[in-house]
Amino acid sequence: IPVLVWLRRDLRLGDNPALAAAVASGRPVIPVFIADEMMQDLGAAPDWRLKLGVAHFDRVLRQVGSRVLFRIGSARQILQQLVAETGATGIYWNRAYHPDEITRDTNIKSDLKALGIEVKSFPGNLCFEPWTVAKGSGGGYRVFTPFWRSVRQLSVAASAPAPAQLRSPQDWPKADDLQLWAARHRMGRGVSVVRPYLSLGEQAAWERLETFCDDGLSGYSAGRDIPSRPATSGLSEALACGEISARQIWHRGRALWQDGAVGAETFLKQLVWREFAYHLMFHEPHILTRNWRQEWDGFPWNQDDQHPDVIAWKQGRTGIAFVDAAMREMYVTGRMHNRGRMIVASYLSKHLMTDWRIGQRWFADCLTDWDPASNAMGWQWAAGSGPDAAPYFRVFNPELQLKKFDPDGRYRRGWIAEGQAEPSETALSYFDAIPKSWNMRAGNPYPTPIVSAAKGRERALAAYQNRGF
Ligand code: FAD
Repeated sequence: IPVLVWLRRDLRLGDNPALAAAVASGRPVIPVFIADEMMQDLGAAPDWRLKLGVAHFDRVLRQVGSRVLFRIGSARQILQQLVAETGATGIYWNRAYHPDEITRDTNIKSDLKALGIEVKSFPGNLCFEPWTVAKGSGGGYRVFTPFWRSVRQLSVAASAPAPAQLRSPQDWPKADDLQLWAARHRMGRGVSVVRPYLSLGEQAAWERLETFCDDGLSGYSAGRDIPSRPATSGLSEALACGEISARQIWHRGRALWQDGAVGAETFLKQLVWREFAYHLMFHEPHILTRNWRQEWDGFPWNQDDQHPDVIAWKQGRTGIAFVDAAMREMYVTGRMHNRGRMIVASYLSKHLMTDWRIGQRWFADCLTDWDPASNAMGWQWAAGSGPDAAPYFRVFNPELQLKKFDPDGRYRRGWIAEGQAEPSETALSYFDAIPKSWNMRAGNPYPTPIVSAAKGRERALAAYQNRGF
């Protein structure tokens, strides 16, 4: 009698407690991935990346005697159908923390339990589950530093080892064709340009982590703010699909920290920002959709996502080099340097006085490392409407930021072709990635700023003062 393992964003063999428990039961294991209703809302890039991740994990599972059983439809119905088709008496999964996922999983759990199925969920995707960390006064944390202080000494459960082999059922239930999923959404941009920037799967994630620990960690604190340098781990995409777990990264970093490795503490602290984002999303889920600080409701933000300034922002032709370079980096590589994210988010919400949710949605459509919790926290931080956010009067000057963090102009030249006699390959590749309808050419003159750093700042500050902030 088989056990079903419902895979979600945990496409890995190592430290996958649901999979490990299924293997330990000694019964045949059926790993299932369901493109369900929750996936209808996924943006183009995360949807595409997740599908590639599932296809990759299927290949990995086939090497250990198993596969991914892929189905499209309602998770609730499909799991019940699979129980009927296979006679499975157990369903295991690793917990997810988005409010809609929590509701879905809770309902499914109670339905299946009513049918007499053994349903077990496991902690696999965070180091610290949100309800296990609470302030002395009760409730969740709202400020990062005390959160960090309270978790940094906690012990994190050991990573479950990867099973060497999975026992398969005699007959596999019928699967849907993975290609049917691709047909539902299409990346509107040159996938052949973006594809080489992806690194898929668990093994690639571990190689990244090891290379980073060996060569990158010691320069991390100094280099992580310089967007032209590959000074960060680049693990966000693997984390978003669960190809490596935060616990695995934690244990590797913690051991180095204990050994006194330079940069290890800073790196773990960044990893804990992701934990903090999940903590906030769990305790105050309105962070995903509403101004976390209610006094921002009614602020006269532009709400029109077709406004010419917003289109220029999305297309990387605002005439502000840091903003345009970063927006193009995201369009070509699927990711954007953290400093770039802060600058473009600040420029959209402050200089262009546009609702942060417009930017949040664009990121959700373009980022291959899209993460609902980190994205919402990052946007509310930049706009000033979030917990522990940049105060409204801290308006980044994107020109000074460029001087400070791109002193040799490498990042700018790497992404902006216009005005260069011999543009770099990366800068040119942007024009292969964008739709023709954007009507941009490398040979065009570089645009003058749609809203200058000084004017935007003045306008934003005046609006804040009018609101009595
Ligand atoms: P490293 O510097 O190597 O850090 C290691 C890991 O720590 C990262 O992979 C990530 O999981 C975590 N981390 C680091 N910085 C942050 C942070 N500020 N917030 C949360 N987690 C962090 N990150 C996403 O993963 N997905 C998103 O959709 C996302 N949207 C963002 C939107 C905005 C407006 C901003 C300001 C930040 C956003 N971030 C997001 C956070 C951050 O920019 C990325 O996690 C980071 O750039 C990933 O690069 P890395 O893996 O090389 O990071």
